Amino acid sequence: MKKYVAFFLPSLLTSLLIQAQTDKWQQRVKYVMEINMDVNTNRFTGKQKLEYTNNSPDTLKKVFYHLHWNAFQPNSMMDVRSQELGKTKINGSPDWDRRVKDRISQLKEDEIGYQKIISFNANGTPQKFIVHETILEVILNRPILPKSKAVFDMEFETQVPVQIRRSGRDAANGVRYSMSQWYPKLCEYDAEGWHPTPYIAREFYGVWGDFDVKISIDKNYILGGTGYLQNTNEIGYGYELAGANVKRPNTRKLTWHFLAPNVHDFVWAADPDYKHLKTQISSGPTIHILYRGVQKSAVNDSAWKQILDFCIKVWPFLEKQYGQYPYKQYSFIEGGDGGMEYPMATLINSGDLGSASHELMHSWFQGILANNESIYPWLDEGFSNWSQSYVLDNYIQQLPKEHETRKFYEKKFEGLPYPIKGNYDLYFSLAKSGKEEPLTTHADHFESYFASGAGAYYKGAVFIEQLSYIVGKETRDKILLEYYRRWRFKHPTAEDFISVAEKQSNMKLDWYKEYWINTTKTIDYGIDSLWEEGGKSKIRLKRIGKMPMPVDLLIEYKDGSKQIAYIPMYLMFGAKPVEDPNVARTVYESWKWTHPTYTIEVPRKLSEMRTMEIDASQRMADIERRNNKLDIPW
Ligand SMILES: [Zn+2]
Repeated sequence: MKKYVAFFLPSLLTSLLIQAQTDKWQQRVKYVMEINMDVNTNRFTGKQKLEYTNNSPDTLKKVFYHLHWNAFQPNSMMDVRSQELGKTKINGSPDWDRRVKDRISQLKEDEIGYQKIISFNANGTPQKFIVHETILEVILNRPILPKSKAVFDMEFETQVPVQIRRSGRDAANGVRYSMSQWYPKLCEYDAEGWHPTPYIAREFYGVWGDFDVKISIDKNYILGGTGYLQNTNEIGYGYELAGANVKRPNTRKLTWHFLAPNVHDFVWAADPDYKHLKTQISSGPTIHILYRGVQKSAVNDSAWKQILDFCIKVWPFLEKQYGQYPYKQYSFIEGGDGGMEYPMATLINSGDLGSASHELMHSWFQGILANNESIYPWLDEGFSNWSQSYVLDNYIQQLPKEHETRKFYEKKFEGLPYPIKGNYDLYFSLAKSGKEEPLTTHADHFESYFASGAGAYYKGAVFIEQLSYIVGKETRDKILLEYYRRWRFKHPTAEDFISVAEKQSNMKLDWYKEYWINTTKTIDYGIDSLWEEGGKSKIRLKRIGKMPMPVDLLIEYKDGSKQIAYIPMYLMFGAKPVEDPNVARTVYESWKWTHPTYTIEVPRKLSEMRTMEIDASQRMADIERRNNKLDIPW
């Protein structure tokens, strides 16, 4: 059986990919980099050859690169922005990232980060360039024509900053080098034009392509990162093939050679004290764990080790639910601060399964789909936050009842399988805080750090869970798989997601994006009044909130029977399929959003009813649930 699946699936995916390629062009990069690291000065020199393919219909007269580490200098945009945010207090604390605070302003000369461009050639000719702090602008002598290639050669010098956020050296937990956003990285050019987004602290957007990276560093350092190590038997440290004889050259440094096909970024980390664990997922990738374990506690060791067991157990669920993982490895690497996702790897600072599952889910949403995270952070963070709950739940369900981890999470979630409730609660506090801003706001441009984070993570997670209330759970799951198949390696937008959702559900859903993402309008439905007329019951429902939604009204009778009165919302032009075949459902005419009330007629007496509730599943983010439920008073 497996044989047929393996044979059939790739050809199906390939044909879908070809179909997808015809209607959305993507730029393409091929990086070849050589890095020479000096671990005494924490500086490295680099050479970068970049082959750039302009698949756009446009002639490009300039190109832009990110120079992220120039942000780690006093008075940089990232520094000033963080300090300005810190002047406001939210819930009694300064509204800044506690990892950043005003720490950049205090960096000394040998602690700052910098990326200095020594030379830049296009097709062998020197070019004029301007450094705008974290953005490099190159004015090309000769423009790049549509459907043509250019080759850029760059030499650069870099100082690794002291760890402030995501990347850096000598973090508080002792990790020597967390090397993310470490190279001059070409900005993405898409149908909206260039995206020269300065690095202020928020997340990333990159060009799809292939990376060939050679890193020379003192031979006692152990590395992990994106890509496949090529010279495993020369490096060793657990990377060597089984039974291989490791032969290291007799030099002070080792050169680690990685290849990473079809990714949009490349991360690495290095430390002399990393321990290396690995396992092979059957018909899946190799999982690497690199951690310092300097705390030398058994708890810490077993937490990191458990990630291997976690991956083995959840991998079949992951691929069934979210699509095939297309790479040969994935690495969990202990980095200098909280979890951050990169293609084929994550930097996390503990073996906590919550972070591990969250970062792993980014492999699908950030690694493979790769939305522009400045514009659609919620598509990535929200979806990762949401799916992490189900992945962790899937793992816990596979553990014996008495397993410590199972007991720990069952207590934490207060009743599985609904670990996602926390996202709703945090969204409700955002909605009631008065600080909420529309999710269409550029990630850098929110008024508060609180609103950008809570919006992307929690309101984003509610978006996808709540979608199952509108279209049904099975359809929602089909939408996610089709979203992956249709848009992987394509940088999908919110509109692309909605378009897939509409086709799979056979409903109009543009209104859902418009209200939930483009505005801060909230949902509140209530039971308004009841009466009897000619032996039948009338139930009047009321829309109190500004955002319209379909309504599931569950009626429970005294004889123990149940009934769902389902009222689609007018703008859907459709109805969700029956979700629970054990409960009778009556579909009513759709509710026009212009009408604040809606009255249904039920062919049984009020005296036969015990209770009724709007959305008993609690997937609709109704900000006032007290008016959703009514116990019949007679
Ligand atoms: Zn995340």
